[in-house]
Amino acid sequence: MTIIDLAEMPFYSICGEGTEIGKPAVFIRTFGCNKVPKCSYCDTSYSYEGKPITLTLSKLIKELDIISAKTQCRTLFLTGGEPTLQEEALIILLRYMHGAYTILQTNGTRFSPVLFGLVDELSVDVKGPSSGLQSNLSTESKIDRMFSHKKRQFKFVVSNTEDLAFAKWAMRQLTGTIILQPEANTLGIHALAQWVLADPDIARHDIRVLPQLHRILGVK
Ligand code: SF4
Repeated sequence: MTIIDLAEMPFYSICGEGTEIGKPAVFIRTFGCNKVPKCSYCDTSYSYEGKPITLTLSKLIKELDIISAKTQCRTLFLTGGEPTLQEEALIILLRYMHGAYTILQTNGTRFSPVLFGLVDELSVDVKGPSSGLQSNLSTESKIDRMFSHKKRQFKFVVSNTEDLAFAKWAMRQLTGTIILQPEANTLGIHALAQWVLADPDIARHDIRVLPQLHRILGVK
């Protein structure tokens, strides 16, 4: 019997970040995060603190069937925490969920080729200086290379000019879509947009400057 640890029960909402922003989706938020130290701006500490909700995979599938029957939504967003920590269960789930459009959000610290190969889209958070532990880009570059046939985005949370300089260094090495997102408590979207517009080195990449829509809408 395969089980999965979740931070909360699956829910229906609007994608708040990245290239799928604004799209209705069913969300699965897995429990647990391997990032040490935890990101300074993490807004989902409930996904690794306290106790998980442990479900059998068949119970989770029943829950998803109920939501999709009610909403008719066929987009499934896997997030966390760090979903690759629940790799075994998610691989089985994704094999069952054929026909759904699936997106996996990962913190870019674990390389899970089988899992990554099963989703339609990869959304990789690249951790910059203000996160507390800057990425050396090794896993992200591997994902970019090995899944170049797949839709993929690399998201940078920007708090300050140091984060932006890191993102500029990283985007020169990545070929997927680049998302620049202001850190909600320290930088406004207008300031970030102005920095980007003033810098031709950034504009020549496939980038989007995006807010966190779910915060604006006040949804999960
Ligand atoms: S990787 Fe994600 S869940 Fe983990 S600490 Fe960072 S923001 Fe939070």
